[in-house]
Amino acid sequence: MEIENQPSRIENRGALFLDRDGTLIIDKDYLADPAGVELIPGAAEELRTARDLGYKLLLFTNQSGIGRGYFTLADAVACNNRMIKLLGLGSDVFTEICIAPESADQPSLYRKPSPRFILESIARHSLDPAHCWMIGDRESDLEVGLNAGIRSAAVCTGKYNEAEWRLRLPGGATLHRDLNSFVRSLS
Ligand SMILES: [Mg+2]
Repeated sequence: MEIENQPSRIENRGALFLDRDGTLIIDKDYLADPAGVELIPGAAEELRTARDLGYKLLLFTNQSGIGRGYFTLADAVACNNRMIKLLGLGSDVFTEICIAPESADQPSLYRKPSPRFILESIARHSLDPAHCWMIGDRESDLEVGLNAGIRSAAVCTGKYNEAEWRLRLPGGATLHRDLNSFVRSLS
């Protein structure tokens, strides 16, 4: 019996690990009410483009308000679900979602800059670290990417503007005005 060679399919084993507040939605300190979720303009279009390029999308958000007792995990999930609805890219737009609930003074398991979530996701989905990025608006977002051995990109839609980022951007990270400018750099 002859075995035909299947045409090889080019797979992008890359992924974007995305911060939430200040990266995909407007950062409102300790957001607990889904009614307060507001997409950063262009977020949905850019995630669609990245997905079309073959990147898996994973959401990675520190929510220390849970550890501090300001709100519950269910509140954070409700805000995520509202964001996912507003994005309009399907309920399965994110391959994985990690909500790290610890406050800064509590023992940390997944809280950024711990690389645990990224490393576990890379293993679970056979991702290629050379094609994985962590994107966020704070130092801990960039540190966690670098700690996990993937690339890190800063956006200026949250805590820092471009001038402020230039003063504190860690070596090895790249700076982008917004998600649009980052995603354009991928293609
Ligand atoms: Mg953020």
